[in-house]
Amino acid sequence: MAATTVYKEPAPRVDAENPLESMMSRFNVATEILGLDDETYNVLKAPDKQIIVHIPVTMDNGKVRVFEGYRVVHNTILGPSKGGIRYDKNVHLDEVKALAAWMTWKCAVVDIPYGGAKGGIICDPTTMSAGEIERLTRGYTLAMKDVFGPDRDIPAPDMGTGPREMAWLMDEFSKTVGATSPAVVTGKPLVMGGSLGRTEATGRGVMVSALAAMKKLGMDPKQTSAAVQGFGNVGSWAAKLLSEQGVKIKCISDVSGAYWNENGINIDEAVAYKNVHKGRLDGYTGATLMDNADDLLTSEVDLLVPAAVEDVITEHNAHDIKAKLIVEGANGPTAASADPIINEKGIMVVPDILANSGGVTVSYFEWVQNRQGFKWSEDMVTERADRIMNEAFEKVYATSQKYNIPMRIAAYVVAIDKVAQTYKFRGGF
Ligand code: NDP
Repeated sequence: MAATTVYKEPAPRVDAENPLESMMSRFNVATEILGLDDETYNVLKAPDKQIIVHIPVTMDNGKVRVFEGYRVVHNTILGPSKGGIRYDKNVHLDEVKALAAWMTWKCAVVDIPYGGAKGGIICDPTTMSAGEIERLTRGYTLAMKDVFGPDRDIPAPDMGTGPREMAWLMDEFSKTVGATSPAVVTGKPLVMGGSLGRTEATGRGVMVSALAAMKKLGMDPKQTSAAVQGFGNVGSWAAKLLSEQGVKIKCISDVSGAYWNENGINIDEAVAYKNVHKGRLDGYTGATLMDNADDLLTSEVDLLVPAAVEDVITEHNAHDIKAKLIVEGANGPTAASADPIINEKGIMVVPDILANSGGVTVSYFEWVQNRQGFKWSEDMVTERADRIMNEAFEKVYATSQKYNIPMRIAAYVVAIDKVAQTYKFRGGF
């Protein structure tokens, strides 16, 4: 790595809603610290390719509707590209581009042999039948048959998709190649090549990196209180596993609102409630509904885990954050404009590309198992994933100390340095 220049805060984003600009402003700061040459900078700043498809789907009413879908492959220098597929009505290309780049940095931070990609379809899966979603998923897979592949590009679930969609994708892709191809996608159901430990992997990585950060800050988990935004896969598992470590979870939330209990929320009870109430906390009585759900972010807790959506911590609320530690379960929960405020307040942030990389790490294990044709035990998955998370945390922490930079920029520095060094060795422009 080149010697450091003086650390500069990322420039505030021009468009407060644009995650691509948020990602780029951090990328620019990190490349400056690294003294990255212009050639490599130019290669890394743009995605390798972006594919836009239009998928005709016969809806249940007999009418054909055309859906727009994307796949952005950001980079493949470290290996086949890896990244989830998001089904949401707000999907847009810049968001998919940012998420694809984050996957490149994420895989590089945890040192797994993957590049980064992301996909998305503009749709509202909550208003579609299972049959419509299946036809859409199969149509998207066919449209991407030359992009996907176990050695090319390996999709996974993201918001709005899960094991069910991955099973359809695997089946459709397998038909196009004439052979069952489990390694083309991860996040599959367990019976068809999914990995033990995948469901909780991202939340577990959040817990492991939170504990590592608490140790650095001299925080005792048993004396630590926390608020977790989002109670889906990442948030509920992070809350459960943190509470098992003695952390008092005082606040949880989903779209129905934020719920506070000064004495700590019983997470198993909250999960059980959600499971029998259409996946929502709506009406949960184990805690009090807060007047304003956004108050969760500025509540009196030591640890804040945003694990829902992008851009929730902004220049408007960052001043009021009380937590000493933020561990980002979601992708891009902090707008770049909030970075200087958070840094000024001395809050440690374990950034998304480090904190939520437990998911892609166990996805990598799933792919390895599929290729080995051999199933690992849950203990083996957990032990290896925890080790990778701890090693990545220590590397990022050491980099932040070495250059006297925030953990977020340090994570980008570690990732970009690895990718850039690989370009140097491979050459070939
Ligand atoms: P889920 O869809 O399982 O859960 C999302 C949760 O966030 C739900 O509880 C949802 O509530 C809630 N939510 C949505 N909007 C808001 C809001 N404005 N305020 C409060 N809560 C809200 O998604 P995941 O848990 O899988 O993903 C969450 C984040 O983590 C995303 O950014 C994703 O990209 C990222 N991530 C996920 C990984 C994974 O392995 N799943 C891996 C790495 C990153 P409701 O249910 O009421 O709609």
